[in-house]
Amino acid sequence: MRTLGVLGGTFDPVHHGHLRLAIECREVLGLDEVRLLPARLPNLRDEPGATAAERLAMLEAAVEGTGLTVDARELAGSGITYTVETLQALRHEAPRTSICFILGQDAFNGLPRWHRWQELLGHAHLVVATRPGYAPPQDEALQELMARAEIQEAAALKSRPCGNILLQSIPLLPISATDLRARVRGGRSLAALTPPAVAEYIEQHRLYR
Ligand code: ATP
Repeated sequence: MRTLGVLGGTFDPVHHGHLRLAIECREVLGLDEVRLLPARLPNLRDEPGATAAERLAMLEAAVEGTGLTVDARELAGSGITYTVETLQALRHEAPRTSICFILGQDAFNGLPRWHRWQELLGHAHLVVATRPGYAPPQDEALQELMARAEIQEAAALKSRPCGNILLQSIPLLPISATDLRARVRGGRSLAALTPPAVAEYIEQHRLYR
């Protein structure tokens, strides 16, 4: 079965932590394609520091040469688009593709705050990038979902189009967009934290000051 990985996020701005996560998943899980999916309005957080168009421009520069792609559909509409709706749309477009929604452990632990989160597995698998020494979520409903849907073998992601959760240990780089924005405010360098084209874009457009 064809496999599509989707990494959602605010990407405000995109950094090497995001890119490595997507690339590690592609290689470890043997995914055919991995798309970065920027959210329009992050409803669970503050207004982003860059506009949707700026975040998209930085993403497009960042994926150059990586083989990753950018799916800008959530930026096209107006107002909030929920992940569950986007996954539903992807599912309709590719009924026989295994869709793997990739998220970091921090994002996964906050899943019960997402709109219609219980329906996500009806459209996609969830691949949770964990660090060694991973502490499982405390939330009972999330524990229940894991008891029902967790699989141990990545190979199973290719035998079904959706419905499972895989905890995948992936070395996560200690980089966050919050830290990058703070560095810009502090007049510090972003070199080696994000691709040069992204650092240049931030500089040229005077973002995050
Ligand atoms: P912020 O610091 O503004 O909260 P962020 O750097 O965490 O941003 P997001 O756009 O919120 O970036 O994250 C998108 C996805 O990427 C989430 O699933 C998150 O867990 C994951 N992620 C973020 N940073 C890293 C990293 N350094 N390594 C691996 N995954 C990451």
